[in-house]
Formats: sequence, C-alpha cells, structure tokens
Amino acid sequence: MIIPTHAPTSAPVGRLAPSPSGRMHLGNAFSALLAWLSVRSAGGELVLRLEDLDPQRCKRAWCDQVEEDFRWLGLDWDRGGSQGGADYYQSNRGEIYEHYLHILEEKGLIYPCFCTRGQLHAASAPHRSDGTPIYPGLCRNLSQAERRERAKTRSPALRVRVPDRTISFEDGLQGFFAQNLAEECGDFILRRSDGVFAYQLAVVVDDALMGVTEVVRGEDLLDSTPRQLWLQEELGFDHPRYCHVPLLYGADGHRLSKRQRDVDLAAIRASGTAPEAVIGQLACWAGLLERPEPVRPAELIGDFRWQRVRRERVVVE
Ligand code: GLU
Repeated sequence: MIIPTHAPTSAPVGRLAPSPSGRMHLGNAFSALLAWLSVRSAGGELVLRLEDLDPQRCKRAWCDQVEEDFRWLGLDWDRGGSQGGADYYQSNRGEIYEHYLHILEEKGLIYPCFCTRGQLHAASAPHRSDGTPIYPGLCRNLSQAERRERAKTRSPALRVRVPDRTISFEDGLQGFFAQNLAEECGDFILRRSDGVFAYQLAVVVDDALMGVTEVVRGEDLLDSTPRQLWLQEELGFDHPRYCHVPLLYGADGHRLSKRQRDVDLAAIRASGTAPEAVIGQLACWAGLLERPEPVRPAELIGDFRWQRVRRERVVVE
C-alpha cells in the first residue's frame, strides 16, 4: 500500500531544521535553499526549528550561528528560531516527546534494550542502507524478571517494535520509495540509554505539532522516511509530503562534512565572498541556473519548480 502524503491543496508549511552540531556547510545551505524556495514559491509559511537534541554535540552558539548564516544568505522564516523562544529548540521539548513515547508504550510498542554497542556489532546482523546494523531483536522478548535483573546494572535504551510491513510513498523528487520495516530497518531506538530522545521520534512529533505539511531535506534521510511515516500513523498524525534533495560530495567522493573548512559557510563568508555568489553556485548545482551567476534567493522564486531540480548527487570541485 502506498501511503498518501499531504496533498498540496493549501499553502504549504515547510521547515528549516538544522542540527547545530557544528558550523553549516554548503550542503546544509543547499537543502535549506530548496526548502525555502519550495515554500516561498507556493506562498507558504516557514518554520525554523533547531534540532539540538544531543547536548554533547550541540551548542547554543552554533544555533545562533546557523540563524546568522541563514540571514546572511537571504533565507528568512516566519516562525521559530530564537525569536520563537524555547519551543523551537528540541532540547527544551523533552516533556512533549515523553508524552508521545508514552502513547506508543500504551500500545505495547516500546521495550527496554540493554544491548551495548559492542554486542550489536558482534551480532553480525544485516545492515541498513546507511551502514548501521539492523537490530537483531536480542532484547525484544525478555521476560519482566530478566528486564528487572538487567536494569540493576545498566540503564536501557527504549526501542520501538516495528511490524513486518512494507511502507511505500511517492517522494516529490526521488519518486517511489518502499521499505520493509522488519527486514530493512528493524526495531529502532526512540530514547537513548542516557535519556536523550532520538531524532526519529522528535522529528515526527515536531513536524506534526508545528503543522508542517512539507519536508524538504537531504537524500540521506530518505531511508528514515518509512519509519517516520509509520510512527505518524501510530500516533494519529497527518503525513507531510517529502522531497529528498541530492547531497553534495567533494571531488574525493566523500560527502561534504562540517569539518571541511573550504565548504564551511562561516569561512566562505569570512573570505569576503558575497552571499549572492554562494546562492548562485547552489542554484546552479540544483539545476535552477545554467551558470553560477550571483543572485538573491528571492530572485529565484518566480521560476522555481521541482521539475527543474536535479536528482543526482552534486560533486563540488
Ligand atoms: N536536523 C537534520 C539535519 O540537519 C535534518 C532533519 C530533517 O530534516 O528531518 O541534517
């Protein structure tokens, strides 16, 4: 069965959802530009949500830097960010995630998992397409007594029990995508053993509560979408429409990372490059301009159509 995602009958609500775990690079700006253009060309609304769930990896200074970088590029938003207050920072939304986790728990879908990383790697289970092992179910059917015993020495992560079901949907850019949850994804973590909520739960809850109807993000998350569609169904939420945009790769064949200085936005900015030059380059990579001429995001709105956006990976020379 293909899950029908949101039909764009009314103006879309989109979002910019950066993870402030470092400074932004051109790849982050590339997906942000496309998310922005998609919403602005349809007269919709944009929300800025800071995905700072992991306190060890995310810093408030990087949240502020992301906002400053978006502003510098000319990408604005209507709701959220620092002006929206604490509600738009995932690190402040733990009680909300707890509430929805509890709903899943009541449905019998949650179980504690005591496995260590080492155990999981040793279990020689099949791997997901992103290279992470599919959970082999070691803690799936522990008795209450076993759970009590193990909890004495280790605080568990919480996993959700996925059904043996194939979830499919039509991505706005990549087309038809299907995944069998049991075989290709496996039971996944919703709360880590240190109490930090997982991205998969937070993103589903936030997109729903923030009224998001359109999700534009990097293709690395295409693989996460079936489990998010399924969680939305279990929690009684509507499904947004999804567009997964190509990732940017360096000439060495690796994805751009936050550690590479030459593609770091703050460094590009400090070198005196104009924001229009960056936007022109991004738009050219996206297939929206023939040549990388300097341009402001607002000037691209009129001609923006998803049919013009390339699907293949972009290699940054
Ligand atoms: N926070 C994620 C990132 O910056 C994006 C998550 C999403 O768009 O669902 O890669």
